[in-house]
Amino acid sequence: MWEGHQVTNPEVIVVGAGLAGLACARALRQSRVRVQLLEAGDAPGGRVRTDAHEGFLLDRGFQVYLTAYPEGRRVLDLEALSLRAFHPGARVWRGGKLRTLVDPARHPLQALGHLFEPVGDLGDKLRVLELRQQAGSGELEDVWHRPQRTSLRYLRDLGFSDAMLEAFLRPFFAGVFLERPLETSSRMLEFVFRMFATGHAAVPARGMGAIAEQLATQLPAGTLRMHVPVTEVWGHRVRLEDGEALRADAVVVATDPRTASGLLLGMPEPAMHAVTCLYFAAPEPPVEGPWLVLDGEGHGPVNHVAVMSEVSPDYAPRGQALICATVLGATLDEGTLEARARAQLAEWFGSSAVSAWRLLRTDVIPHALPAQPLSILHEPHRPVRLSPGLYVCGDHRDNASIDGALTSGRRAAEAVLRDLGR
Ligand SMILES: Cc1cc2nc3c(=O)[nH]c(=O)nc-3n(C[C@H](O)[C@H](O)[C@H](O)COP(=O)(O)OP(=O)(O)OC[C@H]3O[C@@H](n4cnc5c(N)ncnc54)[C@H](O)[C@@H]3O)c2cc1C
Repeated sequence: MWEGHQVTNPEVIVVGAGLAGLACARALRQSRVRVQLLEAGDAPGGRVRTDAHEGFLLDRGFQVYLTAYPEGRRVLDLEALSLRAFHPGARVWRGGKLRTLVDPARHPLQALGHLFEPVGDLGDKLRVLELRQQAGSGELEDVWHRPQRTSLRYLRDLGFSDAMLEAFLRPFFAGVFLERPLETSSRMLEFVFRMFATGHAAVPARGMGAIAEQLATQLPAGTLRMHVPVTEVWGHRVRLEDGEALRADAVVVATDPRTASGLLLGMPEPAMHAVTCLYFAAPEPPVEGPWLVLDGEGHGPVNHVAVMSEVSPDYAPRGQALICATVLGATLDEGTLEARARAQLAEWFGSSAVSAWRLLRTDVIPHALPAQPLSILHEPHRPVRLSPGLYVCGDHRDNASIDGALTSGRRAAEAVLRDLGR
């Protein structure tokens, strides 16, 4: 679908067809710049891809798209993605029961009904409203310039009870940031919370990879070349693995952060968080409805579970369910991990149900997300223009999210266009 004649004499070479590279190429094409997008892998999308596997759709690690993402709204045709939303709130495993936590701002009556469950008290419900108010005030851009603390400090300063913190807030934000200590900057927490509060967490009906595919299909045929790893970037040139050198007026490095730091002199390699995802096929969904189910006990190894086929039926063949269990980090060997995950989830959903599950695939992703400590988000939008003719984009330039990747791609394109006088 992306094949075609190579672009001759490209004005700009973009290296890496993840969301940042795709957004960059798209913006350049809109200004009628001749772009060549070089991708090392066999398809676009980078960290946002979906594989068809025995009739199931497996995203490469559990991810969600937040419908309030501002750059996503600008760049994507959300309607064409047929987004399927999760319920706002979560189900939480705590004290030997699955308990339901709803967003008190959206469902105030239901939230009151859940008050006496040992997840949070009335004060906590009010603090959620306060967090909503705090994160939602002012312009969205203001969030990136507020005083920073760690997310844990921020939540503690708001006065949340230990029960609320451990049963809900920690596993919830740990699932977003991919780290349990919650050392991520409070700027990121406010951004993410605002996104959850003003929109929905969702997945495209046919998998997260549809986001990248939508961007890729907007590019003229021949723009995107697959199986073309770039090994060197210098001046206005790139060298390909087979030794060929290509030249352009500008080069944009849109690879993952580790590769970028190898290709670009002086580009620091950010710390990355790891995650592991186990996909199970089941004859029955263990929970009904599009819920995120959290480990409110903190025993692990699974931090959260989503029954993807309850969010979008296309994720599983008829009559089967697809369960995605996410474990933070990537330390245990797969056999041990599966056994421990099954033992934990047997407590939640019953051992006879879990023993009928079949492991479809384990995704171990050691470099899933750049860490977002205070020292990084101190400068919320890091430079994308390295020198005239050389640019960089990716989630490591803005914030560690789909929206951050898309934003950085657009910013890099704008810098190129300025230098090209377009
Ligand atoms: C498991 C997981 C869960 C996540 N959850 C969420 C979530 O719920 N919500 C959210 O908003 N974000 C989430 N994210 C983050 C989001 O997916 C990333 O921030 C975003 O996809 C990064 O895009 P990118 O274009 O910057 O980088 P990448 O996706 O890494 O793209 C880089 C591209 O460059 C290519 N490349 C690398 N080296 C070369 C080379 N030498 N030559 C040519 N090409 C090269 C790669 O193959 C890749 O296609 C998650 C990420 C993971 C992995």
